[in-house]
Amino acid sequence: MEAANAIVPGMIRIVDVIAHPLTQTLPRPTVTSWGVYSQVSIVLVEIRTDVGLVGVGETLARFSPKAYVELIETSLKPRLVGQDARNIGALWHSMRRSLSGRAGGMLVEAIAGVDIALWDIVGKAAGQPVAKLLGGMGRDIIDVYAAAVNWVGDDEADRELERYIDEGFQRIKVKISNPVREACVRIERLRKQVGDNIELCVDANWAYNLDEAVEVGHALYANGYFWFEEPLAPENEQGYEELRQRCNVPLAAGESNFTTHQAQRLISNRTLSVVQPDVARAGGISETRRIAEYAAIHEVSYAPHIGMSGIICETASVHLASALPNFRVMECECDLSPFKRELADLPPGCLRQKDGTLDVPGKPGLGIEIDWNAVRRLRAQ
Ligand SMILES: [Mg+2]
Repeated sequence: MEAANAIVPGMIRIVDVIAHPLTQTLPRPTVTSWGVYSQVSIVLVEIRTDVGLVGVGETLARFSPKAYVELIETSLKPRLVGQDARNIGALWHSMRRSLSGRAGGMLVEAIAGVDIALWDIVGKAAGQPVAKLLGGMGRDIIDVYAAAVNWVGDDEADRELERYIDEGFQRIKVKISNPVREACVRIERLRKQVGDNIELCVDANWAYNLDEAVEVGHALYANGYFWFEEPLAPENEQGYEELRQRCNVPLAAGESNFTTHQAQRLISNRTLSVVQPDVARAGGISETRRIAEYAAIHEVSYAPHIGMSGIICETASVHLASALPNFRVMECECDLSPFKRELADLPPGCLRQKDGTLDVPGKPGLGIEIDWNAVRRLRAQ
């Protein structure tokens, strides 16, 4: 039985760490330049403490979720049980040392789930929402954009665009891919369709080589799009730098990166105008805050990536968006997937948003109650 959100003095000892592998079928497939996604997974991390408080976190684990469960329960859990949940920084570094080599991939995604759960516990113990614990801007509402118009035929894309406008969104993201000519035609056509009152951006999910990206970048700038997301593969940092020199549209990326180190180069030389860490991938609330604050020093904006995540990732991102000085706009995924709709008592952002803005939960911790029956129902087979 979870304790009421009372203020807890003293040590909060971690007594158990349980990783739940969950799989959902999306209500409609997400279609990007990478492929068609109809089923994806996450891992829900549950941390129990000796004072009765339970924290929940989310690990980005789109495929093979049971491999993440193994990593969390055999490599991370022994470093957590018996420790004080409030020492999040020390625990983060201890978890990072559980695997040798450069930090990245599954390890950092696994740490992210634990880190978010620890912030949830510490918020509940303090009787404060995570946004307040982060000691930042204290915004009660944040701007969001609709994600996304898929890379589908014109008629279907038009229907998706109209739906987002009808729902009140002021900003909309459009998925683009190859061929380049078709992408450029869509960029111009959608701009004409919405006029100047709706803000538009695109996401290429690494569809292009440098020359193709330059061509698309010119079309985006000519049509007033507010960013060009992931035009190139994330490893191609030199390509991003050259693209920055050759076109004027602001560049956005970062959802594929782990930890501040991987975001460092393109932030410090201001190749990126916007950095988009995913809290469930980049290393949790602690590391996402570090990335965003590093970006703030370089006058690069922070725009949380959500994607095919669950309500825990979305809500943790809302708290970060509330707190960080350089927050610009947050992704609002509009497909009502079971991970967003069924896992907790808080409705998904796309149902709560009004005119493209979203409220920040005010209850202690993340401010959500998990429906453990839904966890059982969605358990990966
Ligand atoms: Mg993206």
